[in-house]
Amino acid sequence: MQKEKKLPSKLPYVGTTIFTVMSKLASDEGAYNLSQGFPSFDCSPKLTELVNHYVKNGYNQYAPMSGVPAFRESLAEKTSQVYGIDYDPEAEVTITSGATEAIFCAVTAVVYPGDEVIVLEPAYDSYVPAIDLNGGIPIYVALEAPDFKIDWDAVKAKITDKTKAIMINTPHNPVGTVFSKADLDSLANLVENTDIYIISDEVYEHIVFDGEIHHSMMTHPVLQERTFVCGSVGKTYHTTGWKIGYCLAPKALSREFRRIHQYITFSTVTPMQYALADFLKLPEHYLHLGEFYQKKRDRFNEALKSSRFTFSPSKGSFFQVVSYRNITEEYDYDLAIRLTRESKVASVPVSVFYKDKKDDKLLRFCFAKDDDILDKAGEILSKL
Ligand code: GLN
Repeated sequence: MQKEKKLPSKLPYVGTTIFTVMSKLASDEGAYNLSQGFPSFDCSPKLTELVNHYVKNGYNQYAPMSGVPAFRESLAEKTSQVYGIDYDPEAEVTITSGATEAIFCAVTAVVYPGDEVIVLEPAYDSYVPAIDLNGGIPIYVALEAPDFKIDWDAVKAKITDKTKAIMINTPHNPVGTVFSKADLDSLANLVENTDIYIISDEVYEHIVFDGEIHHSMMTHPVLQERTFVCGSVGKTYHTTGWKIGYCLAPKALSREFRRIHQYITFSTVTPMQYALADFLKLPEHYLHLGEFYQKKRDRFNEALKSSRFTFSPSKGSFFQVVSYRNITEEYDYDLAIRLTRESKVASVPVSVFYKDKKDDKLLRFCFAKDDDILDKAGEILSKL
């Protein structure tokens, strides 16, 4: 028998992501899948018609490395209309294969071995592996339940002369918090007159509730000049499977970003970019997204009001985090598995968003689902 060759891992702590694990379990168990963050409904037929058009008309070869020019232009125009900030589509807008790739390229652009990167936990699962693969050192600052507000003094206390970047995520996955204007100012005060970069994950930019607005890092001049704003069309247009994202960053940052993007994927799927170039010109498809998801949040939360779960309503993203302390003391991971098997509702345990798997007895439910799924899941959960 041949001897198996060993390969030491650069990411020894990584297994299959919780999103894959829970979606598979939900499917195997025939459970309502409120775990992985993707809509259960389709994107606009207008968008699929546009894709069909471009596929049928021969737009099927490599896109330019930085993205289809018409798409970059539409994105720069939309950004200017929404935030009043102008990015040069030629030099400051780069289309990537999902926000995941954008985040990875941005981290790779700034982090050298030994550099420290501040990560606020709970944190989306791709940040720390990206930092580790570049030899960086993640420096954790905990956001405390139940409100998960950022303690900027605690962040300040972690800044050293090795701090290279701060990872930001607003609206926040998993806890559904959003940055206030005061948060932007506090962050700006910390980084002004330093060489610290910001990698800002804003994939849920259009999903904010209760009259809040999304405060993008680009809207603060001290932050804009040092920030890689990473976005995703998956969340905004109900097309998570297309894996199309982007990075908006000033020239020098984008230049280095593109050097890396060029050798990670080179370019992103072509016909969808042409379709999106047209579709982004229709603001009705993103301006009302907050209202659309707020109705879903409220529908789901209404059912939970009579349950033993406790929560404060999500302020943004398509996730609702709930505490189950009144129901059981089980480890959140075990509970998420058990609820999927026994009650047929799948969720994501919040401990997976912490390096040390901190268990605050919280589950994350995704409400980007059809109303009948939300109703049925809500009914089951309200009886627990
Ligand atoms: N962002 C999605 C979530 O939080 C999952 C994406 C993925 O499966 N990697 O559920």
